[in-house]
Amino acid sequence: MEIVGAVLEHSGAEPPFGTSAPLSVCRLELDAPGPGELLVRIEVAGVCHSDLSVVDGSRIRPTPMLLGHEASGIVEALGDHTLTEGTLPDGTDRLAVGDRVAMTFLPRCGACAGCATGGRLPCEVGSAANNAGTLLGGGIRLHRDGHAVSHHLGVSAFATHAVVNRASVVRVDPDIPAEVAALLGCAVLTGGGAVLNSARPEPGEAVMVVGLGGVGMAAVLVALSLGHHVIGVDAVEQKLATARDLGVTETYTPQQLLDTGVRAPVVIEAAGNARAFETALAATAVGGRTVTVGLPAPDARATISPLLLTAEARTIIGSYLGSAVPSRDIPLFAQLWREGRLPVEKLISSHIHLDELNEAMDALAEGRALRQLIVFEPKALEKPKAHEKPKAHGPDDHQKENG
Ligand SMILES: [Zn+2]
Ligand SMILES: [Zn+2]
Repeated sequence: MEIVGAVLEHSGAEPPFGTSAPLSVCRLELDAPGPGELLVRIEVAGVCHSDLSVVDGSRIRPTPMLLGHEASGIVEALGDHTLTEGTLPDGTDRLAVGDRVAMTFLPRCGACAGCATGGRLPCEVGSAANNAGTLLGGGIRLHRDGHAVSHHLGVSAFATHAVVNRASVVRVDPDIPAEVAALLGCAVLTGGGAVLNSARPEPGEAVMVVGLGGVGMAAVLVALSLGHHVIGVDAVEQKLATARDLGVTETYTPQQLLDTGVRAPVVIEAAGNARAFETALAATAVGGRTVTVGLPAPDARATISPLLLTAEARTIIGSYLGSAVPSRDIPLFAQLWREGRLPVEKLISSHIHLDELNEAMDALAEGRALRQLIVFEPKALEKPKAHEKPKAHGPDDHQKENG
């Protein structure tokens, strides 16, 4: 079938992307879903740092590539065996045409060594497929003028429709709005997973989050939803103000944190740079855990005191992609939303059109937006909102989040 999507022609374009325009909206040919795959009509897609990192070249992926991986949609068709195959705990037999699904960027085969770690390590098969720009089963279903176009993280959601592997979606109940479902699949899975799966705070333990972009704010929301006192840290005052709007009662700049000597038993670093990691480490209390979920540059180096780790009995935890198992974690976050405890809509900065993606990449790179959502079906919105341009959120410290 013919679809319309936003294709990244080459990585590494010069900012501003509104001028260099690395993404172009075009018509593509989408193959029918193969065995174990399904066709999804996209309702909402979010713009994430993992899209930006392919655009700016900090993550090398095969191009041309149809970007987008944080999305929700409606199942339109199922390939052979899609109903009966698979080992996913949410039950493949419940997936049917008309279901709403959240896309996930981390498909799990359920059978490799990584999948046997309960989420601590990513799926080896899924990671290899993501790196190769294919679906989990190895196939490419996207073509343009007879040439293959790579999939982004097994999803490619900046388009009217997508064909994905069964393991790249998690069914959500119909009461979960499309916008919420989209955010659950990436920002919440990553930031929330760093709290839920990696930090595992005990009741009563304060949770400090260093770096308040989309993933950091999602960590904040999940920690608040679990009843923890949350401390927000960011170099940008506007982001601290946003955190206070979300319900955070204690906020600091890194300098203020240093001056006051405030420490917490759980500190999550979501900024993705070495200085933020050092800030997080210095602010971790005796016996505490420092969780790092940001993705710094490969050559970044931080200074740590091994003696302090020993003398203060401290732990450093690497949380790759929130140590998430999408089929296990998304229903849990959906339930927190349903109970009114996880208002993920607060991460939404603006609603945009597909042809505004280049400008949206600038807004994300400059820290002017947490989450910008492309709305393919306005009726997918619970409460229809006037179309608005990306909104200013203040300057950025150029953080690189994962997810
Ligand atoms: Zn696996
Ligand atoms: Zn993402």
